Amino acid sequence: MELLQKAIVEKGTVLPNGVLKVNTFLNHQIDTELMIEIGKEFANRFKDSSITKVVTIESSGIAPSFFAAHELKAPLLFARKKKSLTLQDNVYTSSVYSFTKQETSEITIAKEFLNSNDKVLIIDDFLANGQAALGLIDVVKQAGATVAGIGIVIEKSFQPGREKLEEAGFRIESLARIQSLDNGEVTFLKEAVQI
Ligand code: 5GP
Repeated sequence: MELLQKAIVEKGTVLPNGVLKVNTFLNHQIDTELMIEIGKEFANRFKDSSITKVVTIESSGIAPSFFAAHELKAPLLFARKKKSLTLQDNVYTSSVYSFTKQETSEITIAKEFLNSNDKVLIIDDFLANGQAALGLIDVVKQAGATVAGIGIVIEKSFQPGREKLEEAGFRIESLARIQSLDNGEVTFLKEAVQI
């Protein structure tokens, strides 16, 4: 997605250890016009998948998921990362190790919002080692629901997340795929051209 690649190049900052900072438009301040375009793109890619629910993880997954869910006419459900007094019983939980925070958190979704008839589109801001996506897949499966696919805003293709998810048989649609962040420079993966 060209608009997204442009935002990454113009506004992103490469940090040590293969981390990309995009606080100007995705992880802190949010570019709403860009989020709408991202949502449309996800919705377009999954329009034939009969999605009944979009599932993400708080907080950075919510903005790019919102418009996708709106376009797909499906509710948006976000997993909580922090324990809440309003969310203690009748929940599905899974442990997720955070690549950027370097800590494990327990993600939680109330059982009432997912059921075995649901066809779920999972969306997240980044794909690195695949831990967040695997945690979300775990809670969706606990509900007996189906994962129709995984939508990622920024995939770091030099980390093993995609490979793990593909090996497990999931469809992944990433809007930007980064091949390398070496020497502080962003290099995008060249997609194979269909002829
Ligand atoms: P994974 O679970 O695939 O290892 O990492 C994905 C999660 O870690 C995302 O939800 C995102 O919050 C965070 N993350 C991973 N890599 C980056 C990165 O380079 N930049 C930012 N801002 N977040 C990242």
